Amino acid sequence: MTAEGGLPGSTGADAPGSSAADAPGGAGRPDRADWPDGAVRPTYRLVAIPGDGVGPDVVAAAKRVLAAAAARFGFAVAWTDLVAGGAAIDAYGVAIRDEDLAACAASEAILLGAVGGPQWDDPKATVRPEQALFAMRGGLGLFANLRPVSVHPALVPASPLRPELLVGVDMLIVRELTGGLYFGARTEATGAPGARAASDTLPYTEPEVARVARLAFDLARGRSRRLTSVDKANVLATSRLWRTVVHEIAAEYPDVVLDDRLVDACAMQIVRAPASFDVLVTENLFGDILSDEASVLAGSLGMLPSASIGERRTPHGLHGLYEPIHGSAPDIAGQDLANPVGTILSAAMLLRWSLGRADAADAVEAAVAAALDDGFRTADLWPHDPAVAEACTRVGTVAMADAIVARIGITGGITGAAA
Ligand code: NAD
Repeated sequence: MTAEGGLPGSTGADAPGSSAADAPGGAGRPDRADWPDGAVRPTYRLVAIPGDGVGPDVVAAAKRVLAAAAARFGFAVAWTDLVAGGAAIDAYGVAIRDEDLAACAASEAILLGAVGGPQWDDPKATVRPEQALFAMRGGLGLFANLRPVSVHPALVPASPLRPELLVGVDMLIVRELTGGLYFGARTEATGAPGARAASDTLPYTEPEVARVARLAFDLARGRSRRLTSVDKANVLATSRLWRTVVHEIAAEYPDVVLDDRLVDACAMQIVRAPASFDVLVTENLFGDILSDEASVLAGSLGMLPSASIGERRTPHGLHGLYEPIHGSAPDIAGQDLANPVGTILSAAMLLRWSLGRADAADAVEAAVAAALDDGFRTADLWPHDPAVAEACTRVGTVAMADAIVARIGITGGITGAAA
């Protein structure tokens, strides 16, 4: 389903997918489990943060799919479940506790649902759910958010775009995640009504631009060697710095074709000719908005996965945080209505990028594709055309996960051993 391209820097012995990292008995790490058949297989230490709203629904679904993949491919997952976001504000008075951030840092990867909801939406509150996201991104050095967008052929009728525009859509949006407006100094509104003022600042440094640009060039190399850099260089000083640095780095990648787009033109092009893009790289706010816009192509916000990564390596890959791009969808929370596919595909990215399990990642992505091919649809994907709908089966979150689990292809032998 998704093609994120090659993993930068993945050529060493500890690279994802290398057999050395998965070899039994390696380095005496506590990441080995004895299985009922007497064999010793790896146990990966993961953190799950269900969060708020539909977060618990979709994370539970993804954990079941991961358990099925573990059973098929002979590994185990040791989960640490943590509370963050609104749930943590209620429980502890903060969006995420320091010790929980430390547990995230100690894990190989984190699977997150979503945080937030109307009960914590007071704009004057000093403690807010999204502080958990910023703390994880900043605290764990996760400076790049990767959002692959492709369109499963069976979901073309669910997209508001004309079918011919969706042919060949396969883009990867690389969003800078720890700089810009989200982390710049701000002043909240002050002054009397009628004369209030507030400000946000948009700072970027050369190293911040350079590291995400290099990552994007590396990713473009693993795909079709085309990179679009998105900025607003006709207006913003930070965008002019962005463009300068990206072009300087381009000299290191003569095999990658670079083009620049202004963000407004890019937003238009994403809906006019989405198949013309391959890898896009952009700053924090532009990436947030463009990737939500691009989600429309895939038929629903509920379809799209994401990975947030930095430079830190773990025994099997890159340390990372994996989450669907949607929010906590309070309107459908706890009703078995949420589409779990974005989270399940995020789990597939986790398998590939942080655990080096391309085998299991491929199987999960193939199982999602097969479930969609076989007509399983959550409410958000339900076709408008009654003739198309006739061939589909309407399912909730749990049954969608069941359909995907059933297509993981457990071939027998090892079952139920994944925690
Ligand atoms: P949202 O993504 O939660 O929901 C937008 C719309 O999409 C809603 O109609 C929702 O029902 C639908 N939707 C979202 N996910 C879906 C899924 N998996 N299946 C089916 N339908 C789905 O965005 P919002 O309504 O703007 O925000 C709700 C809350 O989520 C807010 O508190 C916001 O701050 C928070 N939020 C969190 C994150 C995050 O945790 N990363 C991201 C965005 C928004």
